[in-house]
Amino acid sequence: MTRTFDLLIRRACVVDADGEQGVADVGVRGGVITAVEPELTESATTEIDADGLVLLPGVVDSHVHLTDLAAHGSEGRSPAHERLARAGVTTAVEFFDFRTVLDQWHASAAGLTILGLQGLPAYTDGTPSARIRDDVGSALRDGAIGIKLLGGHFPSDPGSSARAIAEGADAGCYVAFHAGTTANGSNLDGMREALQLADGHPLHLAHTNAYLRGAVTELVEENQLALTLLHQHPEVVSEAHLAPLNLCLGGLDGDEFTDHIVVNCLRMGGYPTTRAGLVRAFADGFAHCLRQDAGQAVPVTGDEGRAVWERDPARASLCFPVNRRLSGFMQSCARRDESGTVRFDGTGEFVVDAISSDGGYWRNLVLDQGLALVQFGALSLPQLAHKTSRAPAALFGLRGKGTIAPGADADLVIVDSGQRTVRLTVAAGTVIFDGEHVVGQGGTVVTTEHGTAALRQRRIPHRVLDLTDGEFLRRGSAV
Ligand SMILES: [Zn+2]
Repeated sequence: MTRTFDLLIRRACVVDADGEQGVADVGVRGGVITAVEPELTESATTEIDADGLVLLPGVVDSHVHLTDLAAHGSEGRSPAHERLARAGVTTAVEFFDFRTVLDQWHASAAGLTILGLQGLPAYTDGTPSARIRDDVGSALRDGAIGIKLLGGHFPSDPGSSARAIAEGADAGCYVAFHAGTTANGSNLDGMREALQLADGHPLHLAHTNAYLRGAVTELVEENQLALTLLHQHPEVVSEAHLAPLNLCLGGLDGDEFTDHIVVNCLRMGGYPTTRAGLVRAFADGFAHCLRQDAGQAVPVTGDEGRAVWERDPARASLCFPVNRRLSGFMQSCARRDESGTVRFDGTGEFVVDAISSDGGYWRNLVLDQGLALVQFGALSLPQLAHKTSRAPAALFGLRGKGTIAPGADADLVIVDSGQRTVRLTVAAGTVIFDGEHVVGQGGTVVTTEHGTAALRQRRIPHRVLDLTDGEFLRRGSAV
């Protein structure tokens, strides 16, 4: 019987988390990989020559922001889908405001699979638990797979943070936490507190690298302590990113910044934590503001950065070069052996589950910086495929993703590993980025059974995820 393919990728060096499969042809039909063989002689509607290039499973970015944080709540178009497609991402998980992602869907989608969390407001000890339960319920009914505690930015008190995690566990949904409460900042102490507040419930600890900036103790020691904490809490899943700049919101209430991260950053830079302090930080090139340039968010500093911020502080995103390279490296590459000893010699299990971008509309560095780690010798290509695709897919129970083999979803990325560039992105068997242009359209939202009615009403293609298939709930309930 002659097979034909919708898409045939020829002569690629095929790599997934199981290893390097050598140079092979990969045939795709109906959105699924149907053949991986040394040479396929059949014809295809689209043929791609990938000679000299590496074929990886599409990136599953476990922490992104599809909406501009500062402009959330607005309809219109988000360039983030396009930016992700260019970066080789085929599945992304929104970590702030899934409602806005859905509002912007029809104007923005570029062929990716998208799932997301809905950020919760800051609670106080006076907030009734019924209110928190309602917020969790409406997040799920609106299509999110779970909730995000925005602690570091907009902290709740410790007790309410714990109640929110418990309500999420009760609802059986995904729960992520940007560590930090009214008692502890977004640092190692906040991270330790977050693990305690989870009290054995399933928890996704966001961007572990971002808590480790040397604010509590010496930087290497902070990293070691964080890795030990994660080892002691196998019920907690986590991801780390590799971006030097952070992100926070520029809004003020009088002379006080509403986002606690801004205050932290100014303090770290040795500036007064006021409007005047930020102005000085701009002048010194320490503070940056994101300027929108034809769909690209570009960090600008100096007078220019200050001008962008001053135009509309409440809707401005600020960033500071506070993410330490060492923490990105250690959190991404550290493994531990059976005894819990942290190792960097290529043996043992990764401590932090995944490499994410915490990007979306900017800083989509998963492959760029991930391939830099491969060039450096810190990760092998299969390990990179593990941390950027197989492992994050497993967290959410996204079956069929993270593997290049017959039967797997045809979510693929062709990279020039030497140049660290993405040459082609394929999602659900269709080219969504051709190396020059983003040509993907539509896409799929992955939701829970609670979200299907809302998505049907919005006319957004969707499918239902069983979170009990994922590592998040499996690990969280194994303790
Ligand atoms: Zn984030």
